[in-house]
Amino acid sequence: MIAFVVSRTTRTSGPIVPLPCPACHDPDAVFTTLDERVKESYLGFIPVNSVRVTVAVCSGCRAVFHAKPSPHALAEAAAASPELAARELYFPASFLQMAVAVIALAVAIFPLVGTVFAVVALAMTWSTRRWPKRLSWVALWLSLAVFPVLVVVGMIMDRLNK
Ligand SMILES: [Zn+2]
Repeated sequence: MIAFVVSRTTRTSGPIVPLPCPACHDPDAVFTTLDERVKESYLGFIPVNSVRVTVAVCSGCRAVFHAKPSPHALAEAAAASPELAARELYFPASFLQMAVAVIALAVAIFPLVGTVFAVVALAMTWSTRRWPKRLSWVALWLSLAVFPVLVVVGMIMDRLNK
């Protein structure tokens, strides 16, 4: 079925936006912006998904960021306050980051292994502001919650054995 889903990406170039770069920390960095729309359709004509994102590339370090506001909204925000506008930039989540966050949640219920994996997932997804980071947090708290549950279960078992 996946094979029948056709994905079309259209990119429109936006304005050059001066922003302090969150990656190379150059306060005078300029970003080339793109309006990227990905439209997925089943069999090429039944729309199933449509995503719009602003892609911003630092002219200094070539770091690629994503942002929710449109390129023009980002340019307007940068004109008002470059620092505030720079907060809109985030690192796009890679497939590996998504995978590691999902695995962390899946193994969260296993003592120690779950916690270690959740910490690794959180470290790997730290730079992104997307759902893999939130998911890693959930996995971490869930894995920590397992310990008191185990202690309580251990105490009950201990009582029953006496
Ligand atoms: Zn940079």
